[in-house]
Amino acid sequence: MTRTPLLAGNWKMHGTRQEAVALAQKLAETIGRVPGREVVVAPPFTALECVGRAIAGTQIRLGAQNVHWEPKGAYTGEIATAMLSEAGCTYVIIGHSERRQHFGETDETVNRRLHAALAAELVPIVCVGETLAERDADATAAVIERQVASGLAGASSAQIARCVIAYEPVWAIGTGVTATPGQAQEVHHAIRRQLVGLASDTTAGRVRILYGGSVKAANIDALMAEPDIDGALVGGASLDAAEFTRIVRYEEKEG
Ligand code: PEP
Repeated sequence: MTRTPLLAGNWKMHGTRQEAVALAQKLAETIGRVPGREVVVAPPFTALECVGRAIAGTQIRLGAQNVHWEPKGAYTGEIATAMLSEAGCTYVIIGHSERRQHFGETDETVNRRLHAALAAELVPIVCVGETLAERDADATAAVIERQVASGLAGASSAQIARCVIAYEPVWAIGTGVTATPGQAQEVHHAIRRQLVGLASDTTAGRVRILYGGSVKAANIDALMAEPDIDGALVGGASLDAAEFTRIVRYEEKEG
């Protein structure tokens, strides 16, 4: 089963509209067309529309960093699927560890957001990952299994096939410490085996599982060489056009 590699940049709370457009314009030039890759950028909500214009006509797709499960209502600070689709999004990041850590995101709310995204034909990028304390306590496998099972609860096999999962060990996010390719592969493989049980062999073979956590130009080639690593969710390094370009063009020789 061949899976098209997906390289996604999570810009987090970085970038005024002006800064975001400048970055998007550079990326449109450098990675606007890279055969055999899918590329997504997820700027702050305020910059979705202008970044969408800057990448129009390229293969770069627009993603959001979160979505609420209700279509509208008194949910101050949240955003609905229709608002994201209207702004041009086709992907949405769900359950990022920063949302879990700082904003009370739970397995249950991740699941509600997932169903809203699927119903709106947005591709969910569902983030899972263990903390350092959990890894040190040998709880990584159990934590990931729980997060995947509850995150995808109630989704049909066909819906699971449309999901992307991002394995992002919390201890590797924004720390400069990357999981070794072997550590990441071990978890990715376990997730894929779990998907066989939750859906089917075929579906498990289709789902892209991204690695995230201090991905940079210097480590992307080794990560992508692992059989179950199908791409990357990139934070800090996605804010640097040259660095993200090199990440998207992994394996390609420079010069
Ligand atoms: C992320 O925010 O999803 C992430 C992986 O961040 P960083 O690449 O900066 O570790």
